Amino acid sequence: MFGKLKKGLSKTRGGVFGKINRILTAKRKIDDDLLDELEELLITADVGVSATLDMIENIRQKVRKEKYETTEELNRLIIEAVREELTFDEPPIPDSKPYVILMIGVNGTGKTTSTAKLAHYYKQQGKDVLLAAADTFRAAAIDQLATWGERLGVRVIRHQAHSDPAAVVFDACASAVASHADVLIIDTAGRLHNKVNLMNELEKINRVISRQIPDAPHEVILVLDAGNGQNAVQQAREFIKVAKVNALFLSKLDGTAKGGVVLGIKKELGIPVRYIGVGEQVDDMERFDAGAFVEGLFEKE
Ligand code: GDP
Ligand code: MG
Repeated sequence: MFGKLKKGLSKTRGGVFGKINRILTAKRKIDDDLLDELEELLITADVGVSATLDMIENIRQKVRKEKYETTEELNRLIIEAVREELTFDEPPIPDSKPYVILMIGVNGTGKTTSTAKLAHYYKQQGKDVLLAAADTFRAAAIDQLATWGERLGVRVIRHQAHSDPAAVVFDACASAVASHADVLIIDTAGRLHNKVNLMNELEKINRVISRQIPDAPHEVILVLDAGNGQNAVQQAREFIKVAKVNALFLSKLDGTAKGGVVLGIKKELGIPVRYIGVGEQVDDMERFDAGAFVEGLFEKE
C-alpha cells in the first residue's frame, strides 16, 4: 500500500518538496530566513497561500516556545504541522443499504476511472456493488463504464446514449433496492460550461435518488485532477455552488508535481480529500491518510 503512494508522489516529492528537503538538510539553524524560504516554497508547491501561512505560523510558534535547534527537529516539526493541517474529523459512514455514492466533476478529471476504482475497493471488502452509467452524453462514456464492469464482475445499469441521465439513475436505484445491493455508485457527466444545465441535472438526479432511497445520496464525491493544481481548487468552488459535495477524490497524483495542492484543499474548501488516484488501474487508489501522505512527501530518496 505505502509503496504505491510513495511512487505516486514521486513527481511531487522530486519537485518543490525535494528542494524543501534539501534546504532542511543543508541549513543548520532555524531562523526567520529559513522560515521565509520555506513559506515561499510551499506556496510555489501549489499548497495555497492561506494554508501555507497557517503552517508557517504554527511552526514559528513552536520554534519560539520549544527552542528547536537542529534541522532534524525542524523536519519533524514541519511534518507535524502539515499533518495537523490535513487531519480531518470524518463523520461516521452511515450504515445504509444500498449505500449510494454520486460521482461528479468536470469531464476528463477521472470520474469514470475513479468510479471503477471505488467499485473494486468495495468489492474487495465483499460488498455487492452496482454501477450506474449516468453520463449518457457520449456512447463511449457508457461503454467505458460497461467495460470496467465486465472486468470487475460488477453489474452496470445503462441506457442508450443521449437518454435522460435521471432515468438511468431511477432504474439503478430500483435495481439496487430490489437486488439488495450494498453499494450503488453513479457515474455522471460534468459539463461545467453550462452551469444552469448541470445544476438542473444534478438536482433532478438527487430528487430521483432520494425519492427511492431516503437519505441518499450518502456521499457526493467530487473528482479533481491534481495536475490542475490551484485551478482544481477553483473548479471545486464552482461545483460546491451547485452540489452538496461531501468528499473529494483527487486523481492523477502520479502524473504531476502539483501534489502540494492536497495540503491547501481542506483549508480552502473545508471538504476532506478522501481518496487519491495514483494511476490508471483499479488498484491505483488509496484512501487518504494524512500521516502516510506527509511522510510520502518528505521521505528522503
Ligand atoms: P472522466 O471524463 O471524468 O470520466 O475521466 P476518465 O475516467 O475517463 O479519465 C480520463 C483519463 O484520465 C483516462 O485516460 C484515465 O485513464 C486517466 N486517469 C484517471 N485517473 C487517473 C490517475 O489516477 N492517474 C493517471 N495517471 N491517469 C488517470
Ligand atoms: Mg467519464
